[in-house]
Amino acid sequence: MRYVLIMALVLTCTTPAFAQTPEEWFAEAGMHFKKGEYPEAISLYDQILEEIPNNFDALEKKGIAYSNVGRHPDSLEQFFTILQYRPDDVTALTGMGLGFGNLGEYQEALSYFEKAYELDPNSTTVRNYKEFAEKVITKYPYIPTPKPTDSKVYSATIPDWARGTASAWLDGAINDSEFGSALEYLLVQGVVQVSALDDPGTLESVRDGAAVWAKGAGDAELVPLIHHLINTENIQYVVTKTSEDVKRETDLFKKYVREVTRAVDKEKRYIEYPNPSEDVIKKFLRDYKKWNFEEEVAKAATGFPDPVFSIIDEVMVIYYTVYVNEQPSGLPLDHKSTLEESLAYWEEQRFNIRDREARFEFIVTEKKYEANVWITWVVRDIGEGVLGHAHIGKGAVEVALGDYNCDGAFQLYDISSVKHVMTHEIGHSIGLKHVDDASNIMYPSFTPSFAYCLMQIS
Ligand SMILES: [Zn+2]
Repeated sequence: MRYVLIMALVLTCTTPAFAQTPEEWFAEAGMHFKKGEYPEAISLYDQILEEIPNNFDALEKKGIAYSNVGRHPDSLEQFFTILQYRPDDVTALTGMGLGFGNLGEYQEALSYFEKAYELDPNSTTVRNYKEFAEKVITKYPYIPTPKPTDSKVYSATIPDWARGTASAWLDGAINDSEFGSALEYLLVQGVVQVSALDDPGTLESVRDGAAVWAKGAGDAELVPLIHHLINTENIQYVVTKTSEDVKRETDLFKKYVREVTRAVDKEKRYIEYPNPSEDVIKKFLRDYKKWNFEEEVAKAATGFPDPVFSIIDEVMVIYYTVYVNEQPSGLPLDHKSTLEESLAYWEEQRFNIRDREARFEFIVTEKKYEANVWITWVVRDIGEGVLGHAHIGKGAVEVALGDYNCDGAFQLYDISSVKHVMTHEIGHSIGLKHVDDASNIMYPSFTPSFAYCLMQIS
């Protein structure tokens, strides 16, 4: 009897009632993320990382969550860890740039954005951030915070036979790529550990280092040569880092971030945030009353005057008078020019109305009462998955500038998405209905892209 009892006890102890797998933690964290509940998401990612250290997905999301709550040094640490293992991870590189941009260290930010852009030139998000950094550097010149250095950055233990190979290479007995292959072997075997690709230097300078090394000097002499060959001979290599290497580099990086924060505070350096989305929504909500959206949109289309038309050379020209509302403040781009493109699009189209060729012309007015169409940009939530509204034929047009669906924070859409939605809604306001052809601007569904959201980089 006693034995059975103990067994039962052991069983209850080893099978917790609410055991969860990392997959379930991911799902739960994702739900918190979507709702903007970042601290809850972060603690779940911590649990995952305890179970699976260096899980890149968890590190990346944790980095984004920290960024969204304004904890930039913590955010940087996550992305830095990813880059230790995956130096070409575009999201981590962009996250690094964003973190340094938020701290006010724009040149460091730009170096990461540039690398991300090189790897993914088609990403609008990466391009927007890169352009931001370039602009802000010319606007607010400053002296970059120096980086702390580590004398032990490169560690290398190279077997003695390689010294003979190096001598042969120096004597011209073997060529660059043969010597490269020998080094590649060492790299792939994990014998040589290359911690970071630095300036490879000229072949002459590395040759001198190799000569010193071949005569018996310390292995560190050979490291610049290895870097040089990696860059010039296109050697495929495996970076094998020990956890001590990573820890040492991470500590050094954290020191640098602390120094950046201190320097920026001390200089009272002006900080312009790379992602303007949060600022836009804050100002918008503060001034919400002034916009009167509910009232404006609720106004029936019948309350608007009808457009007029005239027949010119047998063609019916329909004139739409348009009132353009003020844009929300803090936007990094002026949507008035994209509106002009949307209006021009419709002016170029030809229609057939009552067996007659017809076209549209738009006239912008400052007088609200005489307008057939009111155009406005909003950052308010106009409904789940709703990008814009318009009355048919005349009335109000409202176009969303962003939403909360990327990473749980408000994120602005990119220019081409806003323009697409605007053109579609103006189509309604001149009387067009939806069509089934997905390539037509009047097709009812559209997936917008975000201008600055890290979560959509892949
Ligand atoms: Zn529509």
